[in-house]
Amino acid sequence: METIRVAIAGPRGKMGREAVKMVEEAANFQLMAVVDSKNEGKKVRDIDGLPASDAPIYTSLEECLTAHDVDVLVDLTAPAFGKKHMEIAFAHGVRPVVGTTGFTEADIEELRKTAEEKGIGAIIAPNFAIGAILMMKFAQVAAKYLPDVEIIEMHHDRKLDAPSGTAIKTAQLIREVREAKEQGHPDEREELQGARGANLDGMHIHSVRLPGLVAHQEVLFGGVGQTLKIRHDSIDRTSFMPGVKLSIETVMGIDTLVYGLENIIE
Ligand code: NAP
Repeated sequence: METIRVAIAGPRGKMGREAVKMVEEAANFQLMAVVDSKNEGKKVRDIDGLPASDAPIYTSLEECLTAHDVDVLVDLTAPAFGKKHMEIAFAHGVRPVVGTTGFTEADIEELRKTAEEKGIGAIIAPNFAIGAILMMKFAQVAAKYLPDVEIIEMHHDRKLDAPSGTAIKTAQLIREVREAKEQGHPDEREELQGARGANLDGMHIHSVRLPGLVAHQEVLFGGVGQTLKIRHDSIDRTSFMPGVKLSIETVMGIDTLVYGLENIIE
């Protein structure tokens, strides 16, 4: 089994901490270095709560990837950095696995073009939880038969983007099987702006932000005399790590950009 050399951006974050632990524990991965917004020159072991690893900390991704032979960069920072970090990784021939959200369809197309021109694999996964991927797939099946659907996504109140990447991805998957149509009463009006949430082809998406939540989503379907609710809950961030591990392994064998874990899970 060949060792995959990994760098992680965002190691002090809630996701990054779990990723550092997972990479340290995996027999086929080696943690080469991390990129943090502070702690330049220290080692991973110097950060409270992180494993006793001698992997060095950089504040510049550019310097990190210049100094180390890295196969895969795992980015778990913030929506503002995902795209920039992917471009830097591509420039260094490093395969990015990105969990930050906030990519536009145009960003994804541009990044896919770069990945293919360079023949470098890349994965962007708005949700690394396998259960959430199943929720999206089940929702797509249900929407064929029950095309009236609303999505309620619920996250912790530190989340920067709304709606979540998972909610947008769910709506995009549903859009593939559902003809665009406006839902609700044709004459409905919002007494308070935003009351009906965001609107994608007539599907409404509602974002809840509260302390105490991690990542949750309900897809609600309504039909004549019946409703169907498909719900997924990530109750802590370890739920995302099998998906991060699978992505690191998978990205080594592809030469394009894959957007969404559903495309690498049968
Ligand atoms: P978090 O706790 O706020 O952690 C983000 C970490 O990244 C912080 O330590 C932050 O440092 C650091 N950071 C920010 N900009 C950086 C940069 N340019 N270089 C290096 N480090 C940087 O957030 P989280 O809950 O772990 O989530 C991280 C990202 O993953 C978010 O974009 C979130 O939406 C996404 N996420 C994805 C999934 C998925 O399944 N795909 C699941 C959960 C979360 P400072 O605090 O010093 O800025």
